[in-house]
Amino acid sequence: MNDFNAALNERLAAIRKQGLYRELRRVDSPQSPRIEIGGKALLNFSSNDYLGLANEPVIKEAAIQAVEKFGAGAGASRLICGSLAPHHELEEALATFKGTEAALTFSTGYAAAIGTIGALLTKDDVIVIDKLVHACIVDAARLCGAKLRVFSHNDLSELEDILKWAVEIQGPRSKVQGQSRVLIVTESVFSMDGDQAALREIVELKNKYGAWLMVDEAHATGLYGKYRRGLAEELGVSGEIEVQMGTLGKALGASGGYICGSRPLIDFLVNRARSFIFSTAPVPAAAAAAAAGVRFVQSEAGEARRNLLWKRVEEFHAAFGKPPPAYRSAIIPIIIGDETEAVETAAALLKKNIFVPAIRYPTVARGEARLRVTVTAAHEVGEVNSVATAVQQLVNCKS
Ligand SMILES: *Cc1c(COP(=O)(O)O)cnc(C)c1O
Repeated sequence: MNDFNAALNERLAAIRKQGLYRELRRVDSPQSPRIEIGGKALLNFSSNDYLGLANEPVIKEAAIQAVEKFGAGAGASRLICGSLAPHHELEEALATFKGTEAALTFSTGYAAAIGTIGALLTKDDVIVIDKLVHACIVDAARLCGAKLRVFSHNDLSELEDILKWAVEIQGPRSKVQGQSRVLIVTESVFSMDGDQAALREIVELKNKYGAWLMVDEAHATGLYGKYRRGLAEELGVSGEIEVQMGTLGKALGASGGYICGSRPLIDFLVNRARSFIFSTAPVPAAAAAAAAGVRFVQSEAGEARRNLLWKRVEEFHAAFGKPPPAYRSAIIPIIIGDETEAVETAAALLKKNIFVPAIRYPTVARGEARLRVTVTAAHEVGEVNSVATAVQQLVNCKS
């Protein structure tokens, strides 16, 4: 043949040398606080299944019912003939849950970001993102061809400087003809740090400079706000956000991505979002499971589950023995710094039958490797305590 495999092996060797080599671990159990890997039962503190819904009976039952009624596959894209009733029911449920006019679902959150940003912006526009936004937003920003500007994490004065610049380069044309646009994109709760965007201040800035705002609530939906709609609800700014994005695969316990917003936004995406148009509809079971997840989160059981999660998070911090951050978050990063050291610490935990992932570049910046502990409502207090103690002992003896 040719040198194809040799070339790839050379690249793989370089990845290994930097301590950045990754491999898949096969899990032989459902997603839950206790998982089975390689025949070993492990305590799982790695998943984003914050409310423990991935293996929840009512949600599994909804998926099974959908398979019985609508079959296994979706058959085609939504615009061809795959727009099955469960997708419409899910979108109605999402719009009601979020309090928006309409909603559209995608096969993943990743596809939602790529399709939506690609539809909204062209090369004449400007996209402004927080330095720490998820890779799908970075990729979408690059792909859409708009001028890309990045502000330091949560740095509002840098954001304002960029907005000033954007208005200047646009000149009066934008106001008169509405052609060139500025879109700010941020997460509400950041995936690898667990901290929060200053959404109220960002809304003020976007109003001042006439920009649009897209907020990714992947790690906030189901957890924050009186009705658990997300951080935008908690901060009272839902009505000010043009594009509300999220995933159905984290707290909601299923899979898929969503965009919630105005009717014109959703109609426009149906016509222009390429990852929606040119992709087979998600299987009916996924849509039905997600709709059941939305219903669960809205119910009293959802409220109880959310409150239990915050209780477990508090218990973790108490057992960990360091002052907790000022905000509530199920994502608890333990910064190690060095990539290899982070991997070794995770391996030491694994020896104690505890699964906490080491997060490295390119998921986080180089030299900022960390253990990412995620606590869920499905953990028991004893499990939370023993993991907090084990992590603390390992990190202490390293430093
Ligand atoms: C997980 C995640 C996504 C992608 O959602 P998927 O449904 O997993 O594709 C988008 N944004 C953030 C912040 C995420 O953490």
